[in-house]
Amino acid sequence: MAEDFYSLLGVARNATDAEIKSAYRKLAMKHHPDRNPGDKASEEKFKKIGGAYEALSDPKKRRLYDQYGEAGVNAGASGGFGGGSGFEGADVNDVFGDLFENFFGGGGRGGRGGGRRRAHGADLKYETEISLEEAFNGGQIPLKFARAHTCATCRGSGAKAGSSPKRCATCRGSGRVQLSQGFFSMAQTCPKCGGEGQVVEDPCKDCRGQGRVRKEADLKIKLPPGIYDGATLRISGEGEAAPHGGENGDLYVSVKIKPDPRFERREDDLTVHAPIDVATAALGGAVDVPTIDGEPMKVKIPSGVQTGATFRVREKGMPKLHGRGRGDLLVAVRVDVPRDLTARQRELFEQLRASFEGEGKEEPGVFGRIFGKE
Ligand SMILES: [Zn+2]
Ligand SMILES: [Zn+2]
Repeated sequence: MAEDFYSLLGVARNATDAEIKSAYRKLAMKHHPDRNPGDKASEEKFKKIGGAYEALSDPKKRRLYDQYGEAGVNAGASGGFGGGSGFEGADVNDVFGDLFENFFGGGGRGGRGGGRRRAHGADLKYETEISLEEAFNGGQIPLKFARAHTCATCRGSGAKAGSSPKRCATCRGSGRVQLSQGFFSMAQTCPKCGGEGQVVEDPCKDCRGQGRVRKEADLKIKLPPGIYDGATLRISGEGEAAPHGGENGDLYVSVKIKPDPRFERREDDLTVHAPIDVATAALGGAVDVPTIDGEPMKVKIPSGVQTGATFRVREKGMPKLHGRGRGDLLVAVRVDVPRDLTARQRELFEQLRASFEGEGKEEPGVFGRIFGKE
């Protein structure tokens, strides 16, 4: 049987967010499994209040719960929570992180999850522009930019050679300090060491104790053949170094493909526009079209072709990013009507017009006379 979330937390239906959070904290501390080893009833209760808090701490879920009860929240939530561990919501974890690390983790270090937080280097984002040929061929492109590197002199510790960072006296190495607020004691990141648990007393000269120096990175980024415009590549560990030896951030490279004057791309297919003259349109023939990977090629044009007709040349497009082979080359035909005619061409067109106007009455063989020998 479903229990009411508000009664589970012991708050009124119109309780504020702060009241809900505070009530949850009290109950979570009381029923936490670390405090009640082997107590099944407490564990069950702990899960239930976790579920209740997850629903009521999220304004959207709380509205749904108020309207539809537990069913409304479960339907809207990804994965739901009722029967689960109650640990799924980010908000819940947030509160737990603050709370149990210190109340139940033996002062931080060595407890659940450890106390000291190792900083993570920042992720970096870069944009690079390549040509359609480069996208076709793939391969490596150079990328140079400034970023924080781990200081080689002190190997990131920030301490001068021969010395090492000392345990922070303010937090006694835990990276956290307790602040008393009435009945409750709250944990906060240590202001002295910034949560690292140690301080540098004798700083390395090269990095002034930071453990990092700014230098140019000179990388080669590998592009897969057939990469799309706007694709983002994630290069793990090539972002900024973390202060004092944490993990590097990642590098995100977003790839723009410059517009190509010859080809339009649609996924793996390329389109090329091929102008043909009226005679080729009427009689058929061939047209030279450029290709992305080398020499121009001849494409056959049948007789009677109209502007807008498209011919497909298989496997002459871009390499398929996912899968084998290549896309196609689409040859879109445009019939060019001549603007400047020579006297001779004018004469021939006049004869052609006469033949069209007299169609049906005309003697057979007129085309032979126009296009053939004199
Ligand atoms: Zn250094
Ligand atoms: Zn400290």
